[in-house]
Amino acid sequence: MPLKRSDKTAMPVREAQARAHDFVEVNQGYTGLHAGFEAERCLRCQDPVCVGGCPVNVPIPEFIHAVAIGDMAGAAKILRSANPLPAICGRVCPQESQCEADCSLTNRFSPVAIGHLERYVADWERSQPPTVQPKLTRKEKIAVIGGGPSGLVCAGELARLGYPVTVYEALHAPGGVLRYGIPEFRLPKDILDWEIGLMKAMGVEIICNVIIGKTIALDDLLNNLDYSAVFIGTGAGLPQFLGIPGENLNGVMSANEFLTRVNLMKGYDADSDTPVHVGKSVAVIGAGNTAMDAVRTAMRMGAERSMIVYRRSEKEMGARVEEYHHAMEEGVEMNWLTNPLEIIGDDDGWVTGLRCQKMKLGEPDSSGRARPIPIEGSEFVLPAENVILAIGTTPNPLLTRTTAGLSINKKGCLLADEQTGLTSKAMVYAGGDAVTGAATVILAAGAGKRAAQAIHEELTSKSAAS
Ligand code: FAD
Ligand code: SF4
Repeated sequence: MPLKRSDKTAMPVREAQARAHDFVEVNQGYTGLHAGFEAERCLRCQDPVCVGGCPVNVPIPEFIHAVAIGDMAGAAKILRSANPLPAICGRVCPQESQCEADCSLTNRFSPVAIGHLERYVADWERSQPPTVQPKLTRKEKIAVIGGGPSGLVCAGELARLGYPVTVYEALHAPGGVLRYGIPEFRLPKDILDWEIGLMKAMGVEIICNVIIGKTIALDDLLNNLDYSAVFIGTGAGLPQFLGIPGENLNGVMSANEFLTRVNLMKGYDADSDTPVHVGKSVAVIGAGNTAMDAVRTAMRMGAERSMIVYRRSEKEMGARVEEYHHAMEEGVEMNWLTNPLEIIGDDDGWVTGLRCQKMKLGEPDSSGRARPIPIEGSEFVLPAENVILAIGTTPNPLLTRTTAGLSINKKGCLLADEQTGLTSKAMVYAGGDAVTGAATVILAAGAGKRAAQAIHEELTSKSAAS
């Protein structure tokens, strides 16, 4: 079909039935022809509102113009000046509610495919020899707790500013949710490894298998290990449960456990230390990115029926639109307006089904979304051998409970200054999901970058005063 300039240039994708049974990336990326065509759709507005829609204010028209004139090195430089993780954000940012929502074309046509172009430029950059090298000009050591996007970006920025930086990561590999949560078919791990490689080349030291608050106390970092400042980027990895009967049955998991065991601990391999048993029918409760990742992973692990169960409607789901469309194409079943009441099991303690009730939508509740109201007499049982809960996460309290002087809010999130990331404890900064609660990669990366700048300014003024 001929392309109309009013349409977004479609992302080449793998055929649904082929991709639904393996972990190879679904989106194949633009070719030069696609990218040039799409870059020409940008109007280069005088007042580019798309830039305001991006949490880190990527100079969008400038990098797209560079693509349009074939200046790929220029495009990569402009992009990276604002976004420290462009290949990752180009793949996973919810562009439809950020930069692309504000594109001037959006009212009449489809917006410029900013994310797809970002991915194209960043993938070009990865095909070039890296040019970074260590620049140790400062003597003050900085410790970063957590190797997710907020911590890694903070560490990378501080290394760029000349500081010796050490990242302490609890798991056996860095990356946070980018490694253990988001599956390979959405975010290939060689992209993450490339970004981490750049940080290491700049001199960032990463020490895994260390839980700060357990293996080493946070205060020891400042008082005994001579770190001048600490950044906390520990995320929000503690899963929530519904509190309905049957949650302790065999075959019930949180999405975080399921995805971590598959992505990080190779649970797809029957010979792994912790293989994951996936039955014929899998019900995933929730409709955010985590739920979509879990339900599509279950399908790739062999489930014949992979189902979303969500008490609201399609309109209220939190997942990126692209992931939802891909899930539908792959054959995921959507049970909208369906509230789980009880997980049912057999005499041996294994899950056999999910008792549900149909809902209808009422007036908006405190979250601003339509309130789901139960429909009397609509109960039914959905047969399932696994039930996976993806209803949200909160920060793990381990660090805040073992460290004096760190203030948190009612949800267990660290209190930190929005601009600098400074917490209630001197020289301790924080950012990402540990502060905001579960959010997005670009928000976490932006917070890490701002905190690095604030730490630099504080240490510079201290050394000038001494
Ligand atoms: P994390 O990525 O959670 O990293 C925190 C790191 O700190 C972890 O590696 C953890 O092991 C480590 N840590 C924790 N405590 C300690 C300790 N005491 N000592 C040492 N290390 C510690 N966002 C998007 O923008 N787009 C998406 O498509 C998307 N999909 C998602 C899919 C899933 C399955 C999930 C779970 C989240 C998704 N998100 C998505 C959200 C996004 O990944 C997070 O907002 C982001 O990763 C937060 O970054 P962070 O650095 O704050 O925390
Ligand atoms: Fe859009 Fe995300 Fe890129 Fe910002 S970082 S321009 S929100 S894709």
